[in-house]
Amino acid sequence: MTNQVLVVEDSLTFRNYLGQLLTQAGYHVFTAQNIAEAQSILNTEPHLLCAVIDYCLPDGQDGEVIELALTYQHKVIVLTALFNPELRQRMLAKGVVDYLLKDNTASVSYILPLIQRLEKNKRHKCLVVDDSVTVRHHISQLLGHQYIATVQAENGQEALAALQVDPDITFVISDHDMPEKDGISMIREIRQHSNDTMMPILGLSGSDDPTLTAQFLKAGANDFLNKPFNPEEFYCRVHQILNMQEATNALYRMANQDSLTGLWNRRYLFNQALSDCEGRCIAMLDIDFFKSVNDTYGHDGGDAVLVRVAKILQLYFPDDLVARFGGEEFCIQACGSLNDFSTRLEHFRQRIEKTAIPYQNSTIHITMSIGVAASDDSLEKQIKLADDRLYLAKEHGRNRLVCR
Ligand code: GH3
Ligand code: MG
Ligand code: MG
Repeated sequence: MTNQVLVVEDSLTFRNYLGQLLTQAGYHVFTAQNIAEAQSILNTEPHLLCAVIDYCLPDGQDGEVIELALTYQHKVIVLTALFNPELRQRMLAKGVVDYLLKDNTASVSYILPLIQRLEKNKRHKCLVVDDSVTVRHHISQLLGHQYIATVQAENGQEALAALQVDPDITFVISDHDMPEKDGISMIREIRQHSNDTMMPILGLSGSDDPTLTAQFLKAGANDFLNKPFNPEEFYCRVHQILNMQEATNALYRMANQDSLTGLWNRRYLFNQALSDCEGRCIAMLDIDFFKSVNDTYGHDGGDAVLVRVAKILQLYFPDDLVARFGGEEFCIQACGSLNDFSTRLEHFRQRIEKTAIPYQNSTIHITMSIGVAASDDSLEKQIKLADDRLYLAKEHGRNRLVCR
């Protein structure tokens, strides 16, 4: 539904080129060569991600189709063969996403990343901080044209409160001069808790103080823009900080997640001391006779088992830290009563025992042994204790839980 793109273009070569480019990237593409065809697609397809539209068509040479797509509330990327600064301004003011030149390869190759950006924008929510309601409204509208949701705050104090209560906010755009608390003081406070990739910040100001840019950046802003600004430059800067944030998050996941199961890895487990945890419990879990699963079903069969075990772990321990410790060994860090935790582990053990894991034309059955420990010791010592108990569980016949 959300991956549908309409391409309206009268040149067959260009239409095919765009159609192929977007289809290969996984989009469902509708193509039209004139307004009439575009109209009938617009009538039947209400859920387009965006429309890429040629400004000049045989049955409407003056952007009529753009007006049409905008009346359907679609996000429009304008393609044109003619560079006309006045027209470009007019189009951007109407709320199109971008205005790209067709005869320019750099510009054409910008289309795919732009559409991918639009798609990802739906996951973002911006906190817009400015004491002027007009500016807040304008920025929210510009971001809305790009699928970015917004919440607003009138000053730094309100913004800090909004960040406390709304975990969906992914970045901040802030003015400096505001009553109650100015932008730079607000940024310093935000930076005490979250770094520049966790919560990117774009500073804005209409002041002519030449030192303000440096002040913003030193306080921890990722970038800065003078008001009034050109919407294209605004979009470029927003895209840049979001691209950087997403790339850093992806790197973080690669470094801390196990690629086969998607669980946290050992590195994460040791770096992530559970904060405000009353009574930490540790469980070490190991699949019994896993080597023989590999011997019987091959390495891929073994992998299917690991993936399934990870899924069931996530189901039974959604609020705890579940990590793949190595091979067929897992570790859970939980907070709270050892009794409750042991009960959940026992239920999990029984569930594993009963689970038939489909693999090719057969089903694989496994069991797991579990050692549990709760102590005030360091994480390393606690893991060692749980591991000793896991060893006992193996010695005593496997498929069991040992908690003392
Ligand atoms: P025990 O009941 O004593 O735990 O016996 P076991 O066979 O489960 O334990 P052992 O440590 O002898 O064998 C574990 C096997 O797990 C050996 C290794 O090849 C296999 N293994 C480790 N990582 C992976 C993996 O990512 N995928 C697959 N398919 N196998 C793995
Ligand atoms: Mg094992
Ligand atoms: Mg093992």
